Amino acid sequence: MRDPGVAIERRRQALPALATALLWLLSACSEPAPKVEQPAGEGLAGAITDERIRNHAEEPDAWLAHGRTRDEQRFSPLTDINRDNVAQLGLAWSIDLGTKRTQESTPIVVDGVMYFTSTWSRVYAVDAKNGDLLWKYDPEVPGAWARRSCCDVVNRGVAVYEGRVYAGTLDGRLIALDAATGKLAWEVDTLVDRSRFYTITGAPRVANGKVFIGNGGAEFGVRGYVTAYDASSGEQVWRFFTVPGDPAEPFEHPELEAAAKTWTGDKWWEIGAGGTVWNSIVYDAELDQLYIGTGNGSPWSRTIRSPGGGDNLYLSSIIALDPDTGRMKWYYQTTPSDNWDYTATQDMALAEMEVDGKRRKVLLQAPKNGFFYVLDREDGRLLRAHPYTVVTWASHVDLETGRPVEVPGMDYRDAATWVMPGSGGGHNWQAMSTDVEAGLVYIPSQETPMLFKLPDEWLHDGAIDTRKARWKPGIELEGLGKIFLEHAAEAPAARGVLKAFDPLTGETRWSVEHPYYWNGGVLATAGGLVFQGDSQGMLTAYDKDNGNKLWAFDAQVSMLAPPITYRIDGVQYIAILTGSGGSDLWSQGAATASYRYGNHGRLLAFALGGTGSLPPAEPVDRTVPEQLDVGGTEAEIAQGERLFTSYCAACHGIFAMASSGINDLRLVPTERQALFETVVLDGTFAAIGMAAFDDILSADDVALIEKYVRARGEQDRLVQAGRLEAPRMTWLDDE
Ligand code: CA
Repeated sequence: MRDPGVAIERRRQALPALATALLWLLSACSEPAPKVEQPAGEGLAGAITDERIRNHAEEPDAWLAHGRTRDEQRFSPLTDINRDNVAQLGLAWSIDLGTKRTQESTPIVVDGVMYFTSTWSRVYAVDAKNGDLLWKYDPEVPGAWARRSCCDVVNRGVAVYEGRVYAGTLDGRLIALDAATGKLAWEVDTLVDRSRFYTITGAPRVANGKVFIGNGGAEFGVRGYVTAYDASSGEQVWRFFTVPGDPAEPFEHPELEAAAKTWTGDKWWEIGAGGTVWNSIVYDAELDQLYIGTGNGSPWSRTIRSPGGGDNLYLSSIIALDPDTGRMKWYYQTTPSDNWDYTATQDMALAEMEVDGKRRKVLLQAPKNGFFYVLDREDGRLLRAHPYTVVTWASHVDLETGRPVEVPGMDYRDAATWVMPGSGGGHNWQAMSTDVEAGLVYIPSQETPMLFKLPDEWLHDGAIDTRKARWKPGIELEGLGKIFLEHAAEAPAARGVLKAFDPLTGETRWSVEHPYYWNGGVLATAGGLVFQGDSQGMLTAYDKDNGNKLWAFDAQVSMLAPPITYRIDGVQYIAILTGSGGSDLWSQGAATASYRYGNHGRLLAFALGGTGSLPPAEPVDRTVPEQLDVGGTEAEIAQGERLFTSYCAACHGIFAMASSGINDLRLVPTERQALFETVVLDGTFAAIGMAAFDDILSADDVALIEKYVRARGEQDRLVQAGRLEAPRMTWLDDE
C-alpha cells in the first residue's frame, strides 16, 4: 500500500535518528492522506443513466457530467444564489484533502453525493450537504510515475454511470468503482506501451454503455489515441489512434492511411508524433457522435518533426467519431502542422445557435492557438474563428479554406521568436462556461508569450532527441531561462483576463484583468453570476451582464479547478477544489497566493448564510538557509543550470525557484543538503513523486546540477542578507 501518510509515520518510528534529513524532505513534499473513517454509504448508487442525463432539465439541482450535462456548457439553471443575495454567500463546509499538489477536478453531484478526484488519481465520495466522507479509493499510483507527467500529479475528475464511478489513473489505468462502496469493480491498463511516458489526467466520459478515455504525454514523445471500453465489463470496444505509427507496420485503421500522407521525414513515429487526447471528449446525443480534441505535435517543432512539411493529421484537431465503432465521421484541424504546442484539447461545448440566419447545432472551442472556433457539428464545417486573445502567429483564419493564415517569421525557423499565444495557450484546460441565452462564453483567457527557438543541438548537427525519458518539445530547453532573460526586453506582457466573449461576432462584452495569468475555470448561472477562482486566492462572483464584482471569498490559496453548483434540500451550494500548479510549475508563480501562503488542497462549499472559516493563512517561510559548499567553477555551474532546466525545472521551477506545491531546493536545510545525489540517483523519495533519474543522469551530471542549485541558493541567501543586488530572474513584467 503506497500511502504517504502511513509511510511517513512508519519511518518516524523506525528511523529515529538517521535522518531528520529524510523526514524534513518527506514532510515538506509528502501528502498525508486524510484520516477519515469509511462508513459504507447506503443507497448511494450513483444511478446516472443515459435517460436521466438526457432529461437533465428535470434535474437542475444535480451536476450529472463533467461539464454538468453532456453539452458541457457548465451553465447552471439554479437561481437561489443570485445577484441580489450573493453578498450573503459564505463558507458552508470545507475538507482538507491533505495535499499540496495541483487540484483540477470537476466534481459530479447526484442524489446527494459528490464524487471527485484529487491528486494521485485518488477518488472520493462525500455527502454533498456537509462534506462527510462516504468512501475514498486510492489507486496507489506508483510515486515514480510523477516524473512522467508534464504538469504534476493532477486529475480532472470522474464519470458516474449506472452505479459505477470511473476514473483514469496517472499511470494509465481506467478504474471502475462501485458508487455505493468505492470498491473496485474492474480496472484495465489503457497504455499501448508502458515504456513511453504516458499519463492519464483527464476525466473519462460515458455514454451508451461505453467509457471513453485518452491520455497525455506529447511533451515526452508519445503517440495519441482514445479508447472505448464496455462500461460494465471493462472490455475494450475500439481504439482510435490520432496520428500514424511506423509506416512499416499496417495501419491500425483506414483514417491513418490518409493521415500518413501528411507527414514527412523518417522519425516521427520514433519520436511519438503526439496528438494526445488528454482532456476534452464530448458525447453528442442528438447526432450520436463523439468529439475528441487532439493535442500538439511531438516534438512541438514541425521543422524537426516533419521536415518536409505537411499538415500532420490529426494533430490539434477536433474529430467526430462514431461512438459505437470508433470510425471517423469528420475532422477539423485548428492548427495545421502545429508548431507551438497548440492543442485543441480544451473543453468543447455543444449548443444550438442562430448563425447566418439559420438555426444550427454548433460545437464551441477556444483552443490554445487563440482563435474561438464555432463549428457546425453536423459536418464539421467552420462557421466562425474570431481571435479571443492576442494572437501573433496567424493574421486570421480564412473561413473559405478553414485554414489559419500564418504570419511570416513566427515559425522560429531562423531565430528565437516571441509568439503569442505561447505554449500555455490563450486559454488552457481551465473550463469556460457557455451562456446560450446571452450568446456569450465566459473564458478564463490569458496572454502568455513564449520564446521559441530551435534547439542548439539540432541546429548544429541535426540530431533528433528520441530519448524517452526527458522533455523534448523540439525547442531550446536547456538554455530556456537564460534565453528568456536575454530577450526579456522584447517580451510582451503576460496577463490573465476573464472575458465575456461573443463567439459569433468576436466582440468582448466585458473583461476582468487578473494580476497573474494562470487562473481558474469558470461557472456561470441563471442567477446572473459568473464564478471564478484566481491565482490570488479569491473566489469571486461577477455580474454576468457587466463583469462587476459582487462577492469574493479569500480562499488563501490559488485556484485552477472550475467551481460547480448544485442544490440539496432546497439549499444551493457552490463548490470548488483549491491548489494551483500544473504546467505553471515551470514559472515560479511568485505572484500567487499559493506561493505566499502554501498550496493547501481543500474542497470548499458555499451557501447563503454560510459562516464557516478557514484556518488563518500563514506566510511560507522562504528564508534561504546556509548552502552546503559544493564548489563549482562558473562553467560547471552553467552546465549544471542547463541540465537543471532540462530535467528538473518542470517541477522545481526555472532558476530553481519552485512555485508552491513542490519542494524549493534552495530552502532545504543545510545539514540535509548532502542527500542530493542519493535522492536524485537512488530515488529515495520515489514514493512521493521524486523518482530516480539514474536512467538518464550520471553521477557527474548530478554533481553539476547540485553545484548549480547550491550556487542559486547562495545567491539568494546573499540577496536576502542585503549583500547582493537581486538579479533579474523572471521575464514576467510585474514580479
Ligand atoms: Ca502540450
